Amino acid sequence: MLVAFLGIFARKKDLVFKAQKSKLFSIWDLLLYGLVLAIVIVLFAVFVFSPQQALDGLEIVDQTNGQVVLTVDFSNKTYRISPNYAQNVSVEKTGEIYQFTISRQLNGELCTNVVEVSLQNGNQYAKMIEANCPTHDCINLFEDIVANDQAIVCAPHRLKIVSTTTSGEGIII
Ligand SMILES: [Zn+2]
Repeated sequence: MLVAFLGIFARKKDLVFKAQKSKLFSIWDLLLYGLVLAIVIVLFAVFVFSPQQALDGLEIVDQTNGQVVLTVDFSNKTYRISPNYAQNVSVEKTGEIYQFTISRQLNGELCTNVVEVSLQNGNQYAKMIEANCPTHDCINLFEDIVANDQAIVCAPHRLKIVSTTTSGEGIII
């Protein structure tokens, strides 16, 4: 009788232990699955909802002497006008869209180009929107710069806009 009782007790205890053990396992399993799911959701959210950084840096180069007129750093949302060109560049800002008007004397003529640069996340670009060059190729023939290693050239004004993988040193806007 006692043996039988102990036997039942032992089995009960065994069952309880087993139940606890399996419950413990399922909690860990759930935690693990939950963790994996959370990581997957976070990664998914990061890829889908955070806008991709399409552009790193931008340089506007005076091709008559190879000097950089201004640089834009898309990561830090800053721009820097070279001291040599401080008198040649004026800036107009609308939200995160900047219009840089660059005017230089070239062969006795005032050459003006207006470059629009958007620093908006998910909508970064640079394009020539105005120029008093004779052909307007820089406006009509060149695609907007939307990724690294693209360029727009105003041949008559010898002005080049080029996107670079290294972001230029910028000042806080
Ligand atoms: Zn042009």
